[in-house]
Amino acid sequence: MTIELSDAILGAAAVPILLVALDFDGTLAPTVDDPATARALPASAEAISRLSAMPSTVVALVSGRSLEGLRLVADVADEIILVGSHGAESRVMGNESTPELTLDERTLLDELCAAIERVAAGFAGARVERKPSGCGLHTRLSSAADAESARRAALDAVQGLEGGHHVSERYGKDILEFTVRPADKGSALAWLRDLSSASAIVFIGDDVTDEDGFRALAEGDVGVKVGPGDTAARFRVDSPAEVGELLARLADERQKAPVETSRTT
Ligand SMILES: [Mg+2]
Repeated sequence: MTIELSDAILGAAAVPILLVALDFDGTLAPTVDDPATARALPASAEAISRLSAMPSTVVALVSGRSLEGLRLVADVADEIILVGSHGAESRVMGNESTPELTLDERTLLDELCAAIERVAAGFAGARVERKPSGCGLHTRLSSAADAESARRAALDAVQGLEGGHHVSERYGKDILEFTVRPADKGSALAWLRDLSSASAIVFIGDDVTDEDGFRALAEGDVGVKVGPGDTAARFRVDSPAEVGELLARLADERQKAPVETSRTT
């Protein structure tokens, strides 16, 4: 951890209300071939459970996974907010909220997912993940050439749908996602900031979809990108293991900090 990042963590640990927003895959959990087996590293799991038990400290997992998919792999207490589908779904204090699609959107979603399924069937290693308001074409197990062809075929297929212009697409690591209800981590963080009245946000993520989140941060917030690649984040760490160290440090410092709720700034 650089001195600058260490200082930023110290600063965040001392704010009156702290929001710790974390991507899941590739950030808390190392990336694995079978997404159902992804688990947060023990150091990170312990740190977020400690943080969420502290006063004036809110922890949220913000993922591109469906809320259901995130709930299963994250396996965290109700105090931890879950945000799924890049912000389209959430669980706050155990109350789940998923998008209510109109009939038109529902029909379009069915056609969309059927089209993507047909594309995926033509490429080795490609698989489709259905979400409440969209579906994703995963190509982690495909060759680079197949992944590229599958993505192009999927874009063409969506363009060919009658309601195709109502579909938004989003690229992530080894995934191309389509949705009839666009959402992004930037608006998810803005919503969480309001919800928690946070004085500062610590946001950590590894994927290109996390860039919307980094761009939504303000002065006093701490954005940390995991791994290589262009980023709008101010800080960077190398791996989920380093995220674990960072979160443990944040929890230690926040525990030591004077009672936050009594502060005015
Ligand atoms: Mg990720």
